[in-house]
Amino acid sequence: MHGAYGRTWAALLAGCIAIWTAVSPAAADLSVVVTIKPLHALVSQVMAGAGTPELLVKGSASPHTYALKPSDASRLSQADVFFRMSEAMEPFTVKVAKSLPKHVQVVTLQNARGLKLYPRRTSATFDDDHDHADGSDHDHGHGQALTDSHAWLDPINAKAMVDRIAQVLSEKEPSRAALFNANAAALKTKLDALSAELARDLTPVAGRPYVVFHDALQYFERRYKLRVAGSVSVSPEVPPSAKRLSELRKKIASLGAVCVFAEPQFDTRLVDNLVEGTRARTGTIDPEGSRIEPGLDLYFTLLRNLAQDLKGCLSPPA
Ligand SMILES: [Zn+2]
Repeated sequence: MHGAYGRTWAALLAGCIAIWTAVSPAAADLSVVVTIKPLHALVSQVMAGAGTPELLVKGSASPHTYALKPSDASRLSQADVFFRMSEAMEPFTVKVAKSLPKHVQVVTLQNARGLKLYPRRTSATFDDDHDHADGSDHDHGHGQALTDSHAWLDPINAKAMVDRIAQVLSEKEPSRAALFNANAAALKTKLDALSAELARDLTPVAGRPYVVFHDALQYFERRYKLRVAGSVSVSPEVPPSAKRLSELRKKIASLGAVCVFAEPQFDTRLVDNLVEGTRARTGTIDPEGSRIEPGLDLYFTLLRNLAQDLKGCLSPPA
């Protein structure tokens, strides 16, 4: 009798402790929102074990042309942290970032310490781009457009962004700083390995000239010694002029450009039209991951696919 009573108490007490430990851990997970898939993947890996960030630009939408939905705005207003690349990369964030409540920390990853940035290239053919070193901006009005924001396409830059992500999350939630820092360290090791793998993979096509739909590839190209000869559009939201297309057509012929790459989320007719009467092949690249499911591995899939797609078109036919 006494024993059974004691056991009931013990069971009750154990139950209370179980409930207590289930309810009390640190606090709720941080609420984190990220604009684009590649950044979302990096943030996901740094947060692993401490929640999952939300993604804004989903599916095949392009960050260059995305329009903020009312549901995005309300999600953002409840976030602890909002990660984006830059005002120029995600123009839809400019207005909303200014109107968010003070508790939402807006983090512009292009400003991460140690990031290597290059100016935008706006000419049709990039060999001529030094002509515009006066800093004149041909299409946009805003100053940030002078920097090419596709900086995540260099895994070494991604490491600098990972450091910044871990720093911000650790400041927001110091009790999990050790986890964030350990995740970041592991991710940076994987990024170094990825970069070495891509360098080996791309060596055979280094220097073979090609043309892209929009100039997303500068960082990838410089890291792996590829040769982008020009881009069809100045910026995906602006249709290319007839003059630009004719310059590009001449360039493709004079360089013997091997490939012209379309992108899945933009009209491919321009690219088909451009290679007519030349010996260039057409291919498709997906530098913003529009065809890849978001998640932890997206960054690695994105860069490996990019290398595969470039190699597939640029390699000499067997
Ligand atoms: Zn882009």
